[in-house]
Amino acid sequence: MKPTSTARIYRPTRRNLATLANVLARGGLVAAPTETVYGLAADALNAKACRAIFRAKGRPADDPLIVHVDTLAQAEAIAEWNEAARLVAKAFWPGPLTLVLPKKPGVPGIVTSGLPSVAVRMPAHRLFRQLIRLSGCPLAAPSANPFGYVSPTTAEHVRDHLGRRIGHILDGGASKIGLESTIIDLRDTAHPALLRPGAISKEGLERVLGLTVSAHGRTVPTKARAIAPGMLERHYSPRTPLILSPALSPELIGRVPANEALLFIRKPERVPPFKNVFWLARSGGSLSEAAHNLFDRLRSLDTGGWRSIHAELAAGDDPLVAAINDRLSRAAAKG
Ligand code: AMP
Ligand code: MG
Repeated sequence: MKPTSTARIYRPTRRNLATLANVLARGGLVAAPTETVYGLAADALNAKACRAIFRAKGRPADDPLIVHVDTLAQAEAIAEWNEAARLVAKAFWPGPLTLVLPKKPGVPGIVTSGLPSVAVRMPAHRLFRQLIRLSGCPLAAPSANPFGYVSPTTAEHVRDHLGRRIGHILDGGASKIGLESTIIDLRDTAHPALLRPGAISKEGLERVLGLTVSAHGRTVPTKARAIAPGMLERHYSPRTPLILSPALSPELIGRVPANEALLFIRKPERVPPFKNVFWLARSGGSLSEAAHNLFDRLRSLDTGGWRSIHAELAAGDDPLVAAINDRLSRAAAKG
């Protein structure tokens, strides 16, 4: 049984958007859709409001937040820009790319966990952008889920886990991409570093920058405090043990115990009639389809009473392989 929710889910009418923007402008919290996942938003320049995000999520204070903006001017008001940042923003904004840059004064320490850098993104979701515009605030917004659990890609996901801790959820349907943004550290323009893989690939960034983007040191042990949650070894995790199978074979169907689930990236060509076989995309479907369904599938399997979930890793040269496997690996990691 799901715990009762006291949060209200708002349809995206003009009136509701105005109401929710007002909640934000007054220092309140609103969960809202972006093209990556649902975020739990607050005025990024209001330290008290941002502190409430950490409380609602049970997020440790040393994990900094991403600040979402509607305009370049807003981004320039909170971060020190450089040529590399301009190049990638021109190529990929609005979209699922977060830039880590030196911060400007005025961004509260709670947002950056006291770091001299700030993470900034211009999302491509119409409703989220409207909330920024109508509230007049850049919005700090981590994923709208309890810290460490599977990220939410629908309003119902948010309600299921935060419904008793927050009051307002804007429903914009399922998040199109379904994976968190790519994060690139551009503090040192000569040495860009990928902090988190996402729908914007490392290769795509390298093409635009004309530089190698390093992916070193992304993972740190969970116990040693990371600069940020996306860098934790264990994250995005269902409670049901998730076991990665680099080559999960359709041959296994019918051979694993009936209370263990098999999760394929794509539907196998011929699936014998077993109830424990699942997939993220249709036969021959794209990895975008798999990414879009990943978190929803992990959530439904997590409440399905399975003893464990055997999950296949993505393969091939699709730019989404790294992002999908990053989430699966962290979801499977032991704390
Ligand atoms: P989330 O809000 O859960 O999607 O994760 C926020 C992510 O932003 C973390 O995984 C960090 O990698 C990154 N991040 C945020 N602020 C900073 C910062 N100031 N320096 C480095 N990384 C940051
Ligand atoms: Mg998160």
